[in-house]
Amino acid sequence: MQISIDSHSGFCFGVTRAINAAEQELRHGALFCLGDIVHNGQEVARLEALGLQTIDNDDLRSLPPHSRVLLRAHGEPPSTYWIARQRGIEIIDATCPVVKTLQDSIRACYEAHKNDEPLPPQIVIYGKPGHAEVIGLQGQTNNTALVLESPDQIDRLDFTRPIYLFSQTTKSVEGFNALVEAIKAQCTMHNAQLAPFEYHDTICRNVANRVAHLRAFAQSNDIVLFVGGAKSSNAKVLYEKCVEANPDTIFISSPDDIDKEILARCQAVGRVGICGATSTPQWLMERISERLSAS
Ligand code: SF4
Repeated sequence: MQISIDSHSGFCFGVTRAINAAEQELRHGALFCLGDIVHNGQEVARLEALGLQTIDNDDLRSLPPHSRVLLRAHGEPPSTYWIARQRGIEIIDATCPVVKTLQDSIRACYEAHKNDEPLPPQIVIYGKPGHAEVIGLQGQTNNTALVLESPDQIDRLDFTRPIYLFSQTTKSVEGFNALVEAIKAQCTMHNAQLAPFEYHDTICRNVANRVAHLRAFAQSNDIVLFVGGAKSSNAKVLYEKCVEANPDTIFISSPDDIDKEILARCQAVGRVGICGATSTPQWLMERISERLSAS
């Protein structure tokens, strides 16, 4: 069995930056993180062993003044900053700069158009409802933005009103383009020349640029172990790309997921590739490689 780890997989710079911030701040005392710092249970457990305490929004409301709370790369809605100010909580803001720019763009669009007459605008986010980043983006519009997951849902839009479309950073470019084409077709059908449709491809290229490489990596191996957290949107997108390139791709989250059947499948072939998402730590892929080598 020849095992290789994809050199392009692993944390993106936004996640690396947030984790570095957590490690740095933990040296100065107690630190809370609002939500899982990364959608990878193994990495969360490693940081919790160093002292990081993961909290939810209810916990935030009951923290004592001067508590220190790290905001992860996904970003937060304005209400989180407001609560922190009210309670005298110190925020360590590790929002990814790419997400921050997107939040600012959506807020600027909302502020510029919220009072437009006679056609009130619709701000639309292509993303996963309830995802932390999407909640932060909706917050920029006073929670008025619509969230669409696929072109099948465009009947929720009013094509006689202006539409301003943005994307969650980790969605797929193909999916975004399909949604744009579906909306354009409906605008034409509704003869909606007076109601503009503006779209902004705000997908992070740290994710999108990995796809071509990941496809090539998947094709160059007989079997692929894709390592990702069950809650990671980015892992879902990249795993699907791997499966398209090599149907012999298996999603796992930890070395413990390598059962007898997976092991037998790996041993039956020559080349085993290990890759992962922008939320997958390098050390975890290495542990999986070690587990395979030791079997
Ligand atoms: S995927 Fe892109 S936007 Fe998301 S945290 Fe990483 S660098 Fe930032």
